[in-house]
Amino acid sequence: MLSDCDSIIIRDLEVYAHHGVFSEENKLGQKFLISMVLYTSTHRAGVTDSLDESVDYGEVCHFVTEYTKAHTKKLLEAAAEELALRLLNKYGLLKGVTIEIKKPWAPIGLPLDTVSVKITRERHTAYIALGSNIGDTKKYLDTAVSELDSAADCSVSKVSSYITTKPYGMTEQADFLNGCLELRTTLTPFELLERLHEIELRNGRERKIHWGPRTLDLDIILYDSEMIDTETLTIPHREMHLRSFVLEPLCEIAPFVRHPVLNRTAAELLAELRSR
Ligand code: ADP
Ligand code: MG
Repeated sequence: MLSDCDSIIIRDLEVYAHHGVFSEENKLGQKFLISMVLYTSTHRAGVTDSLDESVDYGEVCHFVTEYTKAHTKKLLEAAAEELALRLLNKYGLLKGVTIEIKKPWAPIGLPLDTVSVKITRERHTAYIALGSNIGDTKKYLDTAVSELDSAADCSVSKVSSYITTKPYGMTEQADFLNGCLELRTTLTPFELLERLHEIELRNGRERKIHWGPRTLDLDIILYDSEMIDTETLTIPHREMHLRSFVLEPLCEIAPFVRHPVLNRTAAELLAELRSR
């Protein structure tokens, strides 16, 4: 929870920029005041007195100033959204960020003090199950890991070892190589699902038979403690607690992560599955 987190606060950084719906605004520019709350644990910096252990607010202010001058948006909503995502993906120590952009000279033909947009965004933790049973299976899993890690809005923080498993459901097919990874991301669950589908497709995935052979299968197992149940996406993954090829690699990297519906840790779910 961000409200329990330490924070570094920057108030009313003044930036002359060109955001606005009107072309005059884009041409002439105007003053914006940007306030930020940077949620991060300050404990390490506090005990070591070392800037390397903290988020350098001077650097953040310079980055935000340059970014805001160079990336003109029509809406403050878009300016704030993009800044928040850039900061979260640039500074690994940030857990979340609140950004408020004030526009003191908003051209609405009426006197007002300021108008502003204020948003809070955080970095999420997701667990992704990987599977492959066609071709160079290890290469497919490795490629998925590196494609996810190299995206600007994702970083892979842990990867399990890969295990060879017997096929599930449709048993007349080659053995699978399975693994699991921990992902830090600013993508929403649905954006993440779309991203996984893109990576599957780039790696020769054809959707023909449910549970059939595949070069690469990427499933979202958990996403923070979110519970989602729609036609296209179910989180936690509907069958995670029934699949040892998901729970074993998950337990290797996150034994204490909790299934929010069953209220059991990954280690407890694996023990229960084995005892059946
Ligand atoms: P499976 O992974 O069950 O073998 P597919 O990979 O073909 O099958 O996925 C079928 C559909 O499952 C996907 O198009 C997706 O919309 C849906 N789906 C629902 N929940 C999830 C989830 N948590 N992770 C990945 N896909 C999901
Ligand atoms: Mg899948």
